[in-house]
Amino acid sequence: MDKLVSLCKRRGFVFQSSEIYGGLGSVWDYGPLGVELKKNIKDRWWRAMVHARDDIEGLDAAILMHPRVWEASGHVAGFTDPLVDCKTCKARFRADKLEDARCPQKPSKKPGEHSTCELTEPRMFNLMFKTFMGPVEESAAVVYLRPETAQGIYVNYQNVLNSSRQRVPFGIAQIGKAFRNEITPGNFIFRTREFEQMEMQFFVKPGSDEEWFERWREWRMAWHHSIGLAPAKLRWHVHGPGELAHYAKAAYDIEYEFPFGWNEIEGIHNRSDFDLGRHQEYSGKKLEYFDQASNERFLPFIVETSAGADRVTLTTLVDAYREEEVEGETRVVLSFHPTIAPIKAAVLPLVKKDGMPELADRLFHDLKKHFPCFYDDSGAIGRRYRRMDEAGTPFCCTIDGQTTSDGTVTVRERDAMTQIRVHQDQLAAWIRERVG
Ligand code: ATP
Repeated sequence: MDKLVSLCKRRGFVFQSSEIYGGLGSVWDYGPLGVELKKNIKDRWWRAMVHARDDIEGLDAAILMHPRVWEASGHVAGFTDPLVDCKTCKARFRADKLEDARCPQKPSKKPGEHSTCELTEPRMFNLMFKTFMGPVEESAAVVYLRPETAQGIYVNYQNVLNSSRQRVPFGIAQIGKAFRNEITPGNFIFRTREFEQMEMQFFVKPGSDEEWFERWREWRMAWHHSIGLAPAKLRWHVHGPGELAHYAKAAYDIEYEFPFGWNEIEGIHNRSDFDLGRHQEYSGKKLEYFDQASNERFLPFIVETSAGADRVTLTTLVDAYREEEVEGETRVVLSFHPTIAPIKAAVLPLVKKDGMPELADRLFHDLKKHFPCFYDDSGAIGRRYRRMDEAGTPFCCTIDGQTTSDGTVTVRERDAMTQIRVHQDQLAAWIRERVG
């Protein structure tokens, strides 16, 4: 992880927020390469969940919502973690995660194990960020930064139904920011206080929920494979009776094997009719669905798929990171699936003479119309290849002596390091075919 974090900073994937002021705890910024990587992941998700299907609509709901939403959802009363303080070192820990925590005074021990540790009894701590709407800071003006995007979907369920041609079963998908005042955040962008979720809520007839749940489990795992994650590093974790949220009928997490252990990257939940039932009760508005085919009225059940865009971005970085011995030197390479790679191709003139820079410049501007490209003419060609390996660029296109005579360029593939010649007129189409 340390190597990955330093590569991310060095190459402009991820920076610590407000770094010149000493940083802000567990808040991160995406640099030029990181923003492209994360955007590609979100685009792939949107394409698979919205554009490629005819039974899902997109939505972009606001972060700020009516405070009653969070009472109905159960977040005001129950979105809490048990917290313990150490009176000696003033550190705070999640009472249910003490096993994974380290004593700040003696990192080889867990909190409570060192002779000077003095832990308090656990207290419940609400994870929602509070702020005030309007000019007066009083309790009536309290609003929350949403801790999940799902509620924006539930409260708009009827708006989407009435304004689109959808009928149950159908889904609503949304990508957006969520905020949680996590007590023990960490592991880089794995657990942060501000993050993005990619959530889809699928509304189904009660009784068909288990079938839909199984379908969504299969589709979501297939999607993680489609962005190049190694299947052997992904597994299912089923929530047992003690772990299952009170409203959920069934819940499975997709977990990835990170350097710090197996951890959740996406949850697939059968939420029953809890959400619409609660919003119906708290808002006083009827949210039942009338099924014309069967002449029945019912409150739809919801199958939810909820993934973190930042967590999936971290997963792709971890999964892609390799160190290899090449000709006695260590090469660091990010073997991203070409569809999510931030830069698709680099254009490199072999030398800065004999018309090569002019040809390379023309080719670079031509390719740039099709996908993100990078131009590099400084240093030995081997070093330029290594720089692109670290950025995860799948193809390097070198303009050399032969280009000036027959118009072909050398295309070097990042992972196998094989080289072939492609005519410059066909290059954009050749790369486009491979980067999706
Ligand atoms: P965890 O147990 O890791 O706290 P959770 O079960 O609370 O996660 P959900 O509420 O199911 O998570 O959220 C769905 C997804 O949102 C998670 O699978 C994860 O990818 C992402 N997510 C949740 N909390 C965070 C966070 N603090 N930072 C980054 N991503 C997060």
